Amino acid sequence: MADKQMNKRFFEKSLAFKRIKKRKCKLCSNKIEVVDYKNIEFLKNYITERGKIIPRRVNGNCAKHQRIITKAIKKAREVGFLPFQAE
Ligand SMILES: [Zn+2]
Repeated sequence: MADKQMNKRFFEKSLAFKRIKKRKCKLCSNKIEVVDYKNIEFLKNYITERGKIIPRRVNGNCAKHQRIITKAIKKAREVGFLPFQAE
C-alpha cells in the first residue's frame, strides 16, 4: 500500500517535471530536409533577438534538424544575413 502511494507520488512528480510540453520538431512534421541559409524569415524563428541560436531543448527540434539549422544560421552569419551576437 505504501509502495503504491509512493509510486503515485513519484509519477505525479515526474508529470510536474514534464509540464513543459514536449514540442515536436517542426521540420520533421513538415518534412523539410533542406534548409536554405537565404531563408532568413525561417531561420529567425531559431535565434533570439540577440542573435543566439536557440538550444534544442527549448525549441524542440530533433538532433538532425537542429544540426541543419545551426549550419544554415552560421552560414547566414558569415554571408551577413544574420547578426553575430549583438550587444
Ligand atoms: Zn526533425
